[in-house]
Amino acid sequence: DHLANQIAAGEVVERPASVLKELIENAVDAGASRIDVAAEEGGLQLLRVADNGSGIQSDDVLLAFQRHATSKISTDKDLFQIATLGFRGEALPSIAAVSKVRCVSATDDTGLGRVVEIEGGAIVANRETNAPKGTEMVVRDIFYNTPARLKYMKTIQTELGHLSDIVYRQALARPDIAFTFTHNGNTLLRTPGNGELRQVVAAIYGTSSAKAMIEVRDDNLDYAITGLTAMPTETRANRNALTVLVNGRYVRSQAIIQPFLQAYHTLLPLHRYPLAVLNLSMHPSLVDVNVHPAKLEVRFSKENELRAFVESAIKKTLSAQAYIPS
Ligand code: ADP
Ligand code: MG
Repeated sequence: DHLANQIAAGEVVERPASVLKELIENAVDAGASRIDVAAEEGGLQLLRVADNGSGIQSDDVLLAFQRHATSKISTDKDLFQIATLGFRGEALPSIAAVSKVRCVSATDDTGLGRVVEIEGGAIVANRETNAPKGTEMVVRDIFYNTPARLKYMKTIQTELGHLSDIVYRQALARPDIAFTFTHNGNTLLRTPGNGELRQVVAAIYGTSSAKAMIEVRDDNLDYAITGLTAMPTETRANRNALTVLVNGRYVRSQAIIQPFLQAYHTLLPLHRYPLAVLNLSMHPSLVDVNVHPAKLEVRFSKENELRAFVESAIKKTLSAQAYIPS
């Protein structure tokens, strides 16, 4: 089983940011309203994610580190109607196989919880402890036992860029959750958690960019889209300016990006991208998220219809602006 975990780790854990993604997704799935993220040295030395979510039952903390011990799917049917971000039950065992992990968790406010520590897949502690309701995961020394993998890590600054990217997307996906992000003790992000997407955009991209965005809202029988998109004058050279969420999950999908850009096509300077956050929602049967362990790619069962919907929604949004010809 240790071998299986090491192999899975190779797929799930590419770099510190992939660990962070899994930890934040677990906190979101646990229903947290606050998620505090801290990293040191680009996450290579330390990643810490603390949430105030449901917590893990005392008897289940160790179990959570076993393969396919997901609490989120119980029938085959569930696999086609995934409502949580995680579902494979592979992340924690994979992370624990290639790092030193401490998990402290409690399911209520009695102050009593459990701490489990695992190093390179081996259990080194498992006992009761004082803990507030929620879960704190601390991951140290990623790849300390897989030097070949460690060698491929880039500079601290590059790894930090990937970490920020993960935190920003999750914060944009969930304006109702208060996020903080610190790196080497410096606070890089703080979102209010009041449900206001524009305030999250302001915290990440600056107040003036946030003010200049226009609201997107449209739906038909299959799809709904909400979000914020930039005026064509407010574009960036960087494709990262675009955040696409499908049923709350951050994805990279040409099936959405292409029609989005197509709607801007005649208005847009070459090689520039509008700042935008797009929330697509649809029945879970219309989207397959079970394509890759890192889950960034998805497949849509009615892709052409979706493309047409996105392009038309963005065109309507833009042409509703008085000074843009439709
Ligand atoms: P998955 O998310 O695919 O179920 P993971 O390996 O990420 O698998 O997590 C295993 C299990 O551990 C989860 O199903 C969940 O029950 C529990 N768990 C992990 N992190 C948390 C958390 N922050 N809060 C509550 N439960 C958690
Ligand atoms: Mg998970």
